[in-house]
Amino acid sequence: MIAEFDEHANWAQVDLKRAKDEGRLVVGLYCGYIPFELIRAAGGIPVSLCGDDQEAIAAAEATLPRNLCPLIKSSYGLAVTDTCPFFHFSDILIGETTCDGKKKTFELLGLLKPTHVMQLPYDRNAPGAGASWLAELRRVAAFMAEHGGVAVTDDALSSEIRVENEIRRKLQRVLAGFRGDVPPLTWQQMLYVRRLHDFLVDRSVYLELLDRLTTVLDGETAVTSETAVTSETLATANPVAMAGPAAVSPRRPRLLITGTPMSPDTNKVMRLAEEAGARVVAHDACSGSKTFDRLADEAGDPWESLARFTLDLPCACMSPNENRLDLLRRTVRDFRVEGVIDVVWQACHTFNVESAVLGGTVRDELGLHYLKIETDYSTADEGQLRTRIEAFVESL
Ligand code: SF4
Ligand code: SF4
Repeated sequence: MIAEFDEHANWAQVDLKRAKDEGRLVVGLYCGYIPFELIRAAGGIPVSLCGDDQEAIAAAEATLPRNLCPLIKSSYGLAVTDTCPFFHFSDILIGETTCDGKKKTFELLGLLKPTHVMQLPYDRNAPGAGASWLAELRRVAAFMAEHGGVAVTDDALSSEIRVENEIRRKLQRVLAGFRGDVPPLTWQQMLYVRRLHDFLVDRSVYLELLDRLTTVLDGETAVTSETAVTSETLATANPVAMAGPAAVSPRRPRLLITGTPMSPDTNKVMRLAEEAGARVVAHDACSGSKTFDRLADEAGDPWESLARFTLDLPCACMSPNENRLDLLRRTVRDFRVEGVIDVVWQACHTFNVESAVLGGTVRDELGLHYLKIETDYSTADEGQLRTRIEAFVESL
């Protein structure tokens, strides 16, 4: 079942090519602050272009500094070598002023494709921040209209908000499985489920897959032994190996993995934690629950609703970022977290500095164990990471 999410992600480029041939506008983006609803309402197809390919980094380093985060370097490397089909098929790009590295890289990407950069306010509660972000939504709608999109109507936007909320509700149902003693799937698997959302031409496929997954998992949760994780239904079509200490340990500490986004190809910390015998029950990054744990308001003005919903996303580029600590407290409580691993991509200053506040809250306020890991996409540090993570899991 999980493999179907992976297969659909692999086939998405074929669907995208077909849609493009039919004249649809393909919009590439790099961030959770860019509302898919708005792109859909403009008749576009949103695709995430965040790079997770280590091989692409060398090409990027011919232009970009080496001490830049791997996510930016990989994204730029894929673009400049034209080796990512999703970048290749993108008609236009929408960037955003989240971190300095991305902001300046969008100037370079703008040399390759028509690019609009949304000016994100850093303090969501500052006077005028909401109005300023709302104006940015209108500006990006105009940009899409200039490049083949349709004019966004209130009705179309409201309708798209309802569809995305429906997806969020279904993802929340899947997520609920992680509250139990023995979740019926792992977060390594959940990364595949979450990722497919970012590459879809036809969302009805995703809605149907989520319904089927929920049905399967509802059956799985009824099984209370460790065999639930390796039962035939999931394991026969499971792209994530379930063997190793995690599958046999009678008592597995419950972990939250927070920090910078990861993908099924850059999830080495998550994998090492599960191989060390921990159970990852929560992942609150943009690759995890952060983008779907809330719903956008379906009543009232859809532009204002979307502006507020997106501005409340607790990324470390926000300052202050009290929403992230609220999310942390909620996640620890709801998923009965016993330890937190904070993953920071090398040279990501915003998340790296914010770790001081986050780690202090985990240790001093919540009384939990905390481990911070700075790493990149390579496997060079895997031996050393394994030792640290095993010691951390042991300490729980
Ligand atoms: S972590 Fe921040 S910059 Fe990165 S995708 Fe999420 S919101 Fe955007
Ligand atoms: S991981 Fe950090 S440095 Fe990299 S793109 Fe995201 S916010 Fe920017």
